[in-house]
Amino acid sequence: MQTRAFATQSPTTKFGPHVIDRRAPGLQDVAIEILFCGVCHSDLHTARGEWPGTKYPCVPGHEIVGKVMAVGAKVTKFKSGQLVGVGCMVDSCRVCDSCQEGLEQYCNGPIGCTGTYNGAFGSSDNTYGGYSAAITVDQHFVLAINHAEKNLAAVAPLLCAGITTWSPLRHWKAGPGKKVGVVGIGGLGHMGVKLSHALGARTVAFTTSPGKVDEIKRLGADDMVISKDEKQMAAHANSFDLIVNTVAVPHNLDAYVALLKRDGTMVLVGAPASPHPSPAVFPLVFKRRAIAGSMIGGIPETQEMLDFCAKHNIVSDIELIRMQDIETAYARMLKSDVKYRFSIDMASLKT
Ligand code: NAP
Ligand code: ZN
Ligand code: ZN
Repeated sequence: MQTRAFATQSPTTKFGPHVIDRRAPGLQDVAIEILFCGVCHSDLHTARGEWPGTKYPCVPGHEIVGKVMAVGAKVTKFKSGQLVGVGCMVDSCRVCDSCQEGLEQYCNGPIGCTGTYNGAFGSSDNTYGGYSAAITVDQHFVLAINHAEKNLAAVAPLLCAGITTWSPLRHWKAGPGKKVGVVGIGGLGHMGVKLSHALGARTVAFTTSPGKVDEIKRLGADDMVISKDEKQMAAHANSFDLIVNTVAVPHNLDAYVALLKRDGTMVLVGAPASPHPSPAVFPLVFKRRAIAGSMIGGIPETQEMLDFCAKHNIVSDIELIRMQDIETAYARMLKSDVKYRFSIDMASLKT
């Protein structure tokens, strides 16, 4: 199926219209008309070749929501017309320990999990993501969306920003009685604040943007800290059970390690193109503090997060854009000038 898309041809080429081929649905496949797709900072890292291994043409987009157009004969979970989502993965080995536990993102199979874009699938050496009009995905990697259709553009970012913060919040047991910090209030971070608050944790937001201060409280933060202000930082020393760090550039981690209490953990989800300065050892050793990492989330926990959000009326705060405005969106994202996620209206691909 010839499908309209937007692609970039090299790290320095501007995005432009491109036609890709989508497979007709096989027995287990769901063919989806893409209605909206969120713009993740990982799209930018990949499109601009900031991480190793980008394959061109590159069609990013892994915060996909849309409507089922057709299903294969063996598809039991979905039917035509249903609202569905696709996140960061479209395949994995299904048999390794991680896959069996529903943690497909950590697949130990020969090629690991297959990214929705920039991955290899079947006979194709590149996968194309959600900056496109349609996608065909195995039912195992399709999520059911139970939000109202009118909220769909704002549901899209849950498929990456939502699950990437939900997964560590759940794994490290954010909830009543816990104090949780979220560093960097962009796409991931604003979802981290909303989800941590909804899970009942005392939630503190760390931002470098004074212009976001008033709104961050509205997102559900109990307190907020301008992270460049050492006095404000010091007021929270030794107090956090968990800090989720979403920042996309290298920075001094020690400033946050000092805010963890004994046995506290800072989870890095931000994935800068070059490493953070190495953290100091003694602040970790003396209080048995940990620095960990976490990648997106498995399919069962993604569905759990979507259902939780539907029940609690949680969506992302978005700015709706046309596909043609993607370069401007990237430029603004780099300046932390988005509240808090761009969502692309795929109807614009037809114009
Ligand atoms: P984003 O919307 O650009 O948000 C990043 C935020 O970091 C900014 O809004 C800003 O928040 C803060 N920030 C920016 N520059 C900073 C600086 N120089 N110093 C300190 N803070 C700064 O990006 P995103 O889409 O949330 O993604 C964040 C990172 O997570 C990216 O590296 C992305 O690739 C990665 N990611 C990882 C996973 C995973 O599975 N681990 C999944 C998705 C994305 P303030 O204005 O509040 O300071
Ligand atoms: Zn993402
Ligand atoms: Zn596997």
